[in-house]
Formats: sequence, structure tokens, C-alpha cells
Amino acid sequence: MDMKNAPLRIIRPVLLLACLFLFSSCTLFDSISTLFVTEQDEVKLGTEFDQQLHDSTRTFPVYNPGNSAAKLAFQNYVTHLADSVLAGIPAGKKPGYPFKFTLIDQDIDNAFAVPGGFVYIYTGIIKHMQNESELAGVLGHEIAHVTQHHYRDAMVKQQGLSLLVQALVGDDAGKITELVASSFVQLTSLQISQGNESDADAYGTRYEAAIGRNPMGIANFFSRMQDQGIAILSTHPQPSSRVADVTAEVNGDATLQALAADSLNTNYKSRFEQYVGPIR
Ligand SMILES: [Zn+2]
Repeated sequence: MDMKNAPLRIIRPVLLLACLFLFSSCTLFDSISTLFVTEQDEVKLGTEFDQQLHDSTRTFPVYNPGNSAAKLAFQNYVTHLADSVLAGIPAGKKPGYPFKFTLIDQDIDNAFAVPGGFVYIYTGIIKHMQNESELAGVLGHEIAHVTQHHYRDAMVKQQGLSLLVQALVGDDAGKITELVASSFVQLTSLQISQGNESDADAYGTRYEAAIGRNPMGIANFFSRMQDQGIAILSTHPQPSSRVADVTAEVNGDATLQALAADSLNTNYKSRFEQYVGPIR
């Protein structure tokens, strides 16, 4: 038993029961409840989800490079870029757990994550991208949902705290497996609030700027997709102001503005083209 966490294990159920009693009919309960799902809990849930996703090969065909050097290079390119975006975020501004980035080989215009740092991106969405800053922008957006615990909060709201508590407080692996299995589909499409969505755009924009990519990457991508009538990130609400908001954020900061003005160098278009051949 981990003695460091012992007081938490004892106190948490007591506090949860008190909250259940005091706030069970109150919406405040939702916000309070998020305090009780720890990073460790997120990892437990995410690890179980990731295992079940890898077992659901029909619904989620995980990208498999096989013996193809070009496919392997493409997969490494995407995951290394995601790792770079993550490495650009200061340690105190992200969860302590490691992230895992997985490509899903399907013509779907989406990316999503679950609590615990597990991020999934479809090859379908990358097909529509034109350069590395657009890919870094979408990865940054998803990473931001995780660093800001948006998926945890959405899961608590959607699944209800009592189910989570039953599985997590008892540290019962069987219950966690059961919980994830029974809510597997919902976990792949957790509804993110518009406020959280705007936050993820703003953080994602900053994240890609921090590693020297064009901070307009995500706005340029959204804008082009809108022009083509393609709905992206379908699990997320799409306020029409998203592109305008990111543009305003970039224009309001001299460093971001300079990176955007230097798009010829900060888009990394030729390197992107060098790797994405296998999905073209
Ligand atoms: Zn989002």
C-alpha cells in the first residue's frame, strides 16, 4: 500500500459521502465532484479505455505500419510532433502522467482524447491538412483538453459521479473494467462545452507557438474546412467565432504575430509533405 496516498484514500470516501449528502440535488455538485477524480484515477480510466480500444480493431483500426518504412516514418512523425508540442509546455502547467498518442487508420475527420493523457487522431483528418502547423494546432488543441482536464470534467458530468466513485474509491480493477466497457462509446464522444472548446483553441494556439510553429495553424485549418463544408472534430461544438477568436488572440500578441507573419518558415510545409505520402 502506498502510504503517501493513505490519508487521501480514507478521507476521499468520507468527503464524497458528505458531498453526496449535501449537494446531491445541486448543480454545484458537478463542479465539486471533479475535485475527487485524481490524476491517478484519470490514468486508471484512460489505461483501461486504451486497452479496450486496442481490442476493438473493427471500430478503431489502430494504424499499423507493418513492414512499410514510409508508414512507420509517418507514424513516428505524428507522434514525435505531438511529443514536441507536449514538451513545450512547462512541467507545472500539465499533468504529471505521461501522454500516449495513437493514430487511427480511418477516413474520419476527428481527434479525441480520454482522461489520463490518451489522445487519438484519425488519419482522415490529417488528409485534409496542408502543413505541419495545422497538424501541431489540432494536436495542441487535443493536448489542451487533457492539460485542462476537460475530458475528466465531461466524463463526470456524463457518467455521473456515483458510478465513478464506486469504481475508483474502492480501487477495484474489475469495476473499472466494467465501467469503461459499459460507457466505452460515450467515452469516445464526450461532449465538450463551448467554453472549454474556446479554451482548448487558445491554449493549443499558444502551445504550437511555444515550439515555433505558426500559431494560425489551427485557425487556417478550421477556416478551410468550413469553406469546404467539412465538419471537423464532430464531437465538439463548432461556434462560428472559433477562427475569429484565434485570429484575435494571435493579433493581440506581438510574439504570436511575428510567428504568423513568418508562415513560410513556421508552417513547415515541405517536411509535412515529406512524411504524409502514405495517407495521400
Ligand atoms: Zn475540442
